[in-house]
Amino acid sequence: MERIQKVIANSGVCSRRKAEELLINNKVKVNGKIVNELGYKVKSKDIIEVNGKIIRKEDKEYFLLNKPRGVISSTSDEKNRTTVVDLIDTDKKIFPVGRLDYDTTGLILLTNDGEFSNIITHPKNKIEKEYVAKIDGVLNKELINICKKGIVIDNRKVYVKKIKTKKVNKSSNTSIITITICDGKNHEVKKILNHIGFNCLKLKRERIAFFTLNNLGSSKYRKLNPKEVGKVYSLKKIDKKNEI
Ligand code: URA
Repeated sequence: MERIQKVIANSGVCSRRKAEELLINNKVKVNGKIVNELGYKVKSKDIIEVNGKIIRKEDKEYFLLNKPRGVISSTSDEKNRTTVVDLIDTDKKIFPVGRLDYDTTGLILLTNDGEFSNIITHPKNKIEKEYVAKIDGVLNKELINICKKGIVIDNRKVYVKKIKTKKVNKSSNTSIITITICDGKNHEVKKILNHIGFNCLKLKRERIAFFTLNNLGSSKYRKLNPKEVGKVYSLKKIDKKNEI
């Protein structure tokens, strides 16, 4: 049981003070009924509405998985290959938030909450995705500038937020780089690297927004906690007309 204004604030829709104001002004409903008592305690199953919008949904699940190579980012596969969903023990109909290629490893989120997924994947929210890549060559300043100024891929301008070299192997003429993008179209990183003349030999996603792998082993996963879910909701760029 938690105080309602705390639950509202943790969901990311507004501050605790604003939540108190909304409660006093009869803008909050619990299981369809107006609640205007500041200390009202809610259970995890309660449906809370703020200004007519449900802020916490029953039966939603959220996972962070360290995807291994050779697993597809889909809910099913016609070739019967293992999917990211197969790696998670749940009876909910979860799906991956965005995609990682079959041969790409690293951080992927899974959920049955469509709104959560939209927040992470919608370009207007500019959620950062950071990758480590092994490439067959070495970056230079000119190529870094080309990436940062934006390059056209599949008739779209794509901007690289950050790109830098971590390690160079002179004998094999390969290097390890980090690259951060906010877009999430299919094969985006590989296409960017091809565009500037490299092949991507290995690719791993290490971060989405504030989520990192944090020593989570390959194929291992963990559940997100409500605070993390609330933090994702707070990353949503709210349309002015729907602002609370
Ligand atoms: N970009 C790619 O090219 N592949 C991935 O798996 C993810 C981003």
